[in-house]
Order: sequence, then C-alpha cells, then structure tokens
Amino acid sequence: MTTQADIDALRRETIAPQALFIDGAQLTGTAEPMAVTSPIDGSALTTIANATSAEADLAVASARAAFTDGRWSRLAPAARKKTLFAIADAIEADALALSVLGIRDNGTEFGMAYKAEAGSAAATFRYYAESVDKIPGEIAPTAPGTLGLVHHEPVGVVGAIIPWNFPLMIGAWKIAPALAAGNSIVVKPAETASLSLLRLAEIAAGAGLPAGVLNVITGDGRVAGDALARSMDVDVLAFTGSGMTGRKLLEASAQSNLKRVYLELGGKSPNVVFADAPDLDKAAAVSAAGIFRNAGQVCVAGSRLLVERSIHDDFVAALKTHAEAFKVGDPLDLTTQIGAVNSETQLAGNLRLTEAAISDGADCITGGKRILEQTGGSYMAPTILTGVTPTNTVFRNEVFGPVLAVTPFDSEDHAVALANDSDLGLAAGVWTANLSRAHRMIGAINAGVVHVNTYGGPDNTVPLTGHKQSGNGSDKSLHALDKYTNLKTAWIQL
Ligand code: NAD
Repeated sequence: MTTQADIDALRRETIAPQALFIDGAQLTGTAEPMAVTSPIDGSALTTIANATSAEADLAVASARAAFTDGRWSRLAPAARKKTLFAIADAIEADALALSVLGIRDNGTEFGMAYKAEAGSAAATFRYYAESVDKIPGEIAPTAPGTLGLVHHEPVGVVGAIIPWNFPLMIGAWKIAPALAAGNSIVVKPAETASLSLLRLAEIAAGAGLPAGVLNVITGDGRVAGDALARSMDVDVLAFTGSGMTGRKLLEASAQSNLKRVYLELGGKSPNVVFADAPDLDKAAAVSAAGIFRNAGQVCVAGSRLLVERSIHDDFVAALKTHAEAFKVGDPLDLTTQIGAVNSETQLAGNLRLTEAAISDGADCITGGKRILEQTGGSYMAPTILTGVTPTNTVFRNEVFGPVLAVTPFDSEDHAVALANDSDLGLAAGVWTANLSRAHRMIGAINAGVVHVNTYGGPDNTVPLTGHKQSGNGSDKSLHALDKYTNLKTAWIQL
C-alpha cells in the first residue's frame, strides 16, 4: 500500500541532468540541454539532452549494429521472452519511483499514473513476452511439387516518437511488440515527458536487454524526431501525437526511404447518451471521469457529449456536479483526482480554444479558467460548454484538455450524424439499455473503439486503432505485431 510519506520522500529526490541513452550507455549531448520544468509548481526539475541530428543518427546506427549482429534479433524466441518478462518484473519493482518521476515531469494524478503508466507498461511487456513463441509462420496450400512458406521477420530498426500524456504506457505499446518481434528501436520521448522513458531504458538494460537494442534520444522533436523520420536506416516509424506532426512524418518518409509510418493521432470522441441508458447516474459519473481525468489529456477522452434532448438538462446538471466535485491539484497528493495540465503552452491553448468556443456561441456553465495559480503550477478547472453546434470550432477541434462540449440530439439518426460529423474517428461511447440500438450504433459510428455503457479500458487484448484522420495501424493486441514485422515468402520447387 503506497503511503503519502513514500511519495513525498521520492518527490524530494534531486534529478541529475539527463544524458541520451545510446548503445547501452549514457551519452552527454553536444547541444545546449533543455530545461525541464515541473507542471506541478513550475519548479526547475533537471535538464534533458537536446539531441542533434548527428546524435539521432548515432542512435540509429547503434540500433542497426545490434540488429545486424543478431544479439537480439537472432536470439531464440524463448530467450527474448525471458528478457521481456524480466523487464516487466523490473518495471513493477520500480513502479513507485518510476511513477513519481513521471508525474513530476508531466503532471498526471498519481491514482491514474501509477496504474496507467508503470502498471500498464509492465502488463504490456508481459503480454508481448507471452506472444513471442505463439505466432508460427505458414505453409501455403500450394499445388503438389511446390512448397510456399510464409515467414514473419522483424523489420529491422524501428523509430518510435512518443507524446507527453502517457509516455510509459504509450512507449511500452510500441517498444514491447517491436522488441518481441526481434527489432531494435530508437525512442524519442516528448520534450515535456522524457524522464520515465530514460529510466525505462536503464531498467531494460539492467534486466538483460543487450546494448543498442533500445536507445532513447531526447530533445526537440523538430530536430531529433525529424532526424528519425528522415533517416535512411529506420525501417518503420511508429508515432503517437498530433495530426500536424503526423503529416510531417509522412512527408519525411516520402522524401527519404519510404519507411512505413504508423500514426496514432488525436480524437474528438463522441459520447452518446440516450434517454434509455440503464443507469444515468453511472453514465454521468463515468462520462465526467472520461473527459476530466488526467486533465482531459487522454487521446480517447469523450470530449463531445451528445445527449438526447429529453434528458439534456438533468444530465448536464449531474455532470456539472461531478465536474465541480473533482479535487484538482498537486498530482502527488493521494487525495487529488485531477492533476496538472502538462505545460504552460498546453494550458494557454486550452484557454484559447475555450474562449473561441464561447465567442462561437457556446455557454460555459462551469470552469473555463486557470486555477491554483498561486502554486506556480499549470491547472485548469473542469470545463463544460453547452449549446455547442456543429459550426462551433470546439465541436470538431481537439482541445486535449479538461473541456467538454455538449450538443443535444433528437433521434438515433441525428445522434449518428452528429457523431460522425468529424474528421477524426478514434473512440466513441454509447449509453443505452437497448441491445439492438447498441449494435446499430457500434456499426454506424466511424471510430476505432466504441464503448457501450462504459468508457475506457486499459486491457492489452484489444487494438487501439484510429479511423479517419485519427491514424492508421494499431497499438495493443496481437495486431500491433504486424507493424513491426515483414512477411517473407519462400517458394520452393520440390
Ligand atoms: P506532438 O505531435 O506535438 O508531439 C508528439 C511527439 O512528436 C513528441 O515527441 C515531439 O517531440 C515529436 N515531434 C514534434 N514535432 C516533430 C517533427 N517535426 N518531427 C518529428 N517529431 C516531432 O503531440 P503532443 O502534443 O505531444 O501529443 C498530443 C497529441 O497526441 C494529441 O493530439 C493526442 O490526442 C494525441 N494522442 C493520441 C493517442 C492515440 O493513441 N491515438 C494517444 C495519446 C495522445
């Protein structure tokens, strides 16, 4: 059982200036380091190296050398599996320190970070460890006298570019299947959330992962991330982040070696509440958590509430009660329910988009402002905007903050039309007791995941896939392994 005293001891630890992690060792960057500011109180935490493109190339070369000499790629699957399990155990053993470090860096409340970051990363390593020797190749049903064999091969060097909201969880979603498939990897964390992934690289090395197989380069995405995207020696790029950066990565691939680029992008996910929902109180509580936890910095957050007109006023009133009851504040206080916004830049963007929504005609019925400014940290009150029409900017633009846009609907068809009136298609929610309606909605909503009478689910067994401009490819589940493998056919004349 974690106590406040355990957390407080860890939060006082000094964090040494951070180096790059290349070829199993720390490498001090040559460029001026970047300052790391905690969103909890605006204090200076440490510095991270600001990798140059030459240093990114060095990391790629180290990954390539490790791949080519087979120190990981040609290990017996059972040996890779053992190491991946050891990494999972080591993450778990270090879970508290890892969580506190990550929270000081990115501001997620402890209750969520401990489970969704360290806990989920360990579970992800275990899930893919178990997969290593469970996916055989194929013998094709060819004509007599010929033999067609289909092999699954690692692609070689994977580049992974990670956002700041759940660096360990999202990092593990890419690192674990890439390693399970036998690849080497270079990871580029976000500027404002690099510390826990740097620690993960050390943990993996300590658990027996050979040098060069997992490298971490930190710094400016436009330099270090761009160098990975343009590298002629990165075979697959796996990205989670904004659509704007995703577009640049596709261009960089086209201008370099045509590497496969997998994009997990943003969402403006509709959460559709029908009057016949089995438990409207539960729907309100879960919907409020689904947009406000981690200060709304969740890719699948149900940020557009579509609610049947007959229950609109009561449902919105219940949501407002939940929004105002959340305890927002120091994410390392065990009683806090919603932590900090990741950075001052992100907070300014949240406030700007909220003001734009209000000038487009929405009513702000709660929140809409910065709070706890005296702490020096970046905090925003849970915000509900009602009367949001499809012409309002906030109906379709992702805020990625604790801001809920509410729109009433009059019929099932109307709900579907509103739900699909977006360029994004990451996630959705549907609340109804009508089984046929639930299935009709699952079929009709164009999104990678549709939750019914719940919202969110951390399980690794199912894929997370963006539809429309929310991305391509899948993180999680056995499907993620497809991203990190090539098919190879052997055609043999007998
Ligand atoms: P971002 O695109 O600004 O940054 C993401 C990463 O890209 C960072 O590591 C950054 O350093 C790097 N980067 C920035 N510019 C780059 C460039 N020119 N070339 C290469 N790399 C570059 O996104 P963000 O603000 O960190 O993340 C928030 C976004 O991520 C939101 O849109 C959110 O919805 C999305 N997200 C999606 C998922 C999902 O699974 N679909 C999960 C979490 C977050």
